[in-house]
Amino acid sequence: MIKLEAANLATKIKHEVQAEIERMLKEQGVRPGLAAVRVGEDPASAVYVRNKIRACEEVGIHSEHHALPESTTTSQLLDLIAFLNARDDVDGILTQLPLPRQIDETAIIEAIDPAKDVDGFHPVNVGRLALGRPVFVPCTPAGIMELLDDSGVEIRGMNACIVGRSQIVGRPMAQLLLQRDATVTICHSRTRDLAAVTRTADLLVVAIGRPGLIGREHIKLGATVIDVGMNRISDVDQVRSLFGPEAEKRLDVVAKRGATLVGDVHPADAAAVAGMLTPVPGGVGLLTVAMLMKNTLKAARLRRQ
Ligand code: NDP
Repeated sequence: MIKLEAANLATKIKHEVQAEIERMLKEQGVRPGLAAVRVGEDPASAVYVRNKIRACEEVGIHSEHHALPESTTTSQLLDLIAFLNARDDVDGILTQLPLPRQIDETAIIEAIDPAKDVDGFHPVNVGRLALGRPVFVPCTPAGIMELLDDSGVEIRGMNACIVGRSQIVGRPMAQLLLQRDATVTICHSRTRDLAAVTRTADLLVVAIGRPGLIGREHIKLGATVIDVGMNRISDVDQVRSLFGPEAEKRLDVVAKRGATLVGDVHPADAAAVAGMLTPVPGGVGLLTVAMLMKNTLKAARLRRQ
């Protein structure tokens, strides 16, 4: 089984973005800018935003972090979005999801100027992708396409199965694979006999948020398996049953940090049947941030054409 590590590719993408930004700065005097908006105190969101800001610093994107209190209303957040939309020095705007319950998430996503929608969640960008004329593609599926290409996976004609139909991962993933001539099946929580469907897949992309749910019975021998899931677990028995020979190492992580990360694919099971598999951590997650940098650069370029 080949482990599809993404660290080198993520670094390569960030270096390319960095070089492009240096050129832009020299030739046009322009430094791209990204505004990250976070509401409330969700610790996972805080980590994600911190990673994005750090990546901006690495590649030379100007970044600003707007951290708003948990009690923020939809109208207060809409005011901030309007302010950021109007600013010429802000090329990309992202609102870290999920937002607190009282905020109308759809209204916020739709308020972002599509030209600054570097997450690719605005209906205009979703529609462009569905029509086969993408501008801003959601970062996680875009990163997966880069990884597949970098790994020499021949997508055309493949039976591809995606488990999960979220706006962020599953649906845009299906569009991207369809555009590259895969035969695409989308599964979800109401799919009857999930394993019977996923076992037909040469390429299996899993984004469900259920630790290790996809096991040996779900995977065709030799399949390429992309594990998008990021779940924190701390239960010792669960760690042992998921990680097999690697369990002791992971238990050390739990002892040190209180939890370890596992994907939606059972790592020990998948290692026995898959042809290629993305690790968690060290896989898809690294590319998501790199693609955000690429989208921000693209926004800066398109806004000045
Ligand atoms: P959502 O919760 O938005 O969607 C989950 C999807 O999985 C839904 O379509 C749901 O079906 C489906 N599902 C849930 N349980 C099952 C099941 N038992 N069998 C089949 N389908 C099921 O999740 P996201 O797409 O936002 O995220 C999924 C995972 O990916 C999470 O672990 C998240 O942390 C991770 N993630 C990682 C990223 C990265 O950069 N690595 C980026 C984004 C997400 P239904 O529609 O019927 O409810």
